[in-house]
Amino acid sequence: MSLHRAIALTVWWVIPVLASAQSPSEMKPVADQIAGSIYSGPSMTTLGELADGIGGRLTGSPAYVRATEWAVAKFRSYGIQNVKLDPFTIPAGWQRGPATGAMLAPLSRPLYVASLGWSPSTPVGGVQGPVVLIADVAPEALKAREAELHGKIVLLDTSKIYAEGYGKAMAKMEVAWSAFQKAGVLAVLSPDREKNNVLNAHGVGWGAKLLPLPGAEIGMEDAKLIQRELERGPVSLQLSLENKTSGEITVNNVIAEIRGSERPDEWILIGAHLDSWDFGTGAQDNGTGTASVLEIGRALMSLGKPPRRSIRLALWGGEEEGLLGSYAYTQSHLAELNQCVAVLNTDNGAGHPKGWKTEGREDLKKAMQPWSDGLLKNIGGGDLSTETTYDTDHGPFMLEGIPVLDLWVDMTHYFEVHHKSSDTLDKVDSLDFKGGEAIVAVTAYAIAQTDTPIAPHIDHAAVAEILKKAKLDEMLEHIGVWKP
Ligand SMILES: [Zn+2]
Repeated sequence: MSLHRAIALTVWWVIPVLASAQSPSEMKPVADQIAGSIYSGPSMTTLGELADGIGGRLTGSPAYVRATEWAVAKFRSYGIQNVKLDPFTIPAGWQRGPATGAMLAPLSRPLYVASLGWSPSTPVGGVQGPVVLIADVAPEALKAREAELHGKIVLLDTSKIYAEGYGKAMAKMEVAWSAFQKAGVLAVLSPDREKNNVLNAHGVGWGAKLLPLPGAEIGMEDAKLIQRELERGPVSLQLSLENKTSGEITVNNVIAEIRGSERPDEWILIGAHLDSWDFGTGAQDNGTGTASVLEIGRALMSLGKPPRRSIRLALWGGEEEGLLGSYAYTQSHLAELNQCVAVLNTDNGAGHPKGWKTEGREDLKKAMQPWSDGLLKNIGGGDLSTETTYDTDHGPFMLEGIPVLDLWVDMTHYFEVHHKSSDTLDKVDSLDFKGGEAIVAVTAYAIAQTDTPIAPHIDHAAVAEILKKAKLDEMLEHIGVWKP
């Protein structure tokens, strides 16, 4: 018997045996074991350690660094020895300080304001000046008003500016900030989109770049009041923003790996972002995702035998500033992305789980259907949607044609806390949270066990088609992560 024939016979024997053991029904006992381990596991405590113990963890801040150290120690405590810090750089470091604002005339009253992320400070003592409302940020419109803008505080009429769509408006706004600086504007105010003067922490544009001049978020009702007063006559404001800024800094993603028992070079990535905005403690954006990634590592280790393929567990930095950590990872690990079988991301809050979004891919939805019906429905997450987004860390992997799944949960109450001071532990329902974790863990295990990858990688043209259909192509081209 030739060696060749011996191998052929071995393969003939081995594959059907493995395949028959890898159907959803055959896999159900292990799936139940994983889900059981998660439901009785420590992830609520883990989440508390992060959200209450470390708190808000803005990318690059001392709290973010503490969170990375905590996550490394946590992975190791679960017996996962292969844990690495994966560095990338961001153009500037930023930490929020106090912000105050007031209307000086015609009324005298305080205003609800907060620095926009990566805003420089105002000069010591703040700035004072008349307000000018800007509803058209086209370069020619701003050029025509250049003289009028000198020494003023600009209030953006964002409802008009963003009416033409986010992608187009975003590109114009970037140019507009430079035009404001050139014209000698003192500061820029951007109204929040939510009522009751609630403030949402956010930045402007993508990329953790310092704004060219001080910028602040202002409560919706305060902004509307200023607009009405402007119709009656001049309005003057005072604004003081104090923030700490630095030049380029290095930020670390945290990457852990459970080596596969049979196909270690093929990997499934389970990811969530470790960073958060700083108003709240980032309990659901994205403490629950972070705790899930750690908990899934623990639950898979508790099986005693690694899955066939490797499981890579990723905690990203820089998500809130534009998916910076996950994007950097796709670029620095480009050579091994062909071995990435699938990416599972969780970052939509801890609402009641539904299932998975396959991000524009009908073929992936079809491939997932038997697993959703056979394993995930049973644990409360059997639904599938092809909705496509580029709003969290599955995005950069989707651009590379990798099959990506984004955990789909009920988001009805998510935006009540998203980026707000109310994003705290008390809003997390532990059953919904653990339900989501179980869905991610069972899916990852199933995809790690199948004989053939769940779905193929798709080429650039096929990705382009998905992006065009989802109307994401222009925006992605603008931020420089996509070339058609
Ligand atoms: Zn998030």
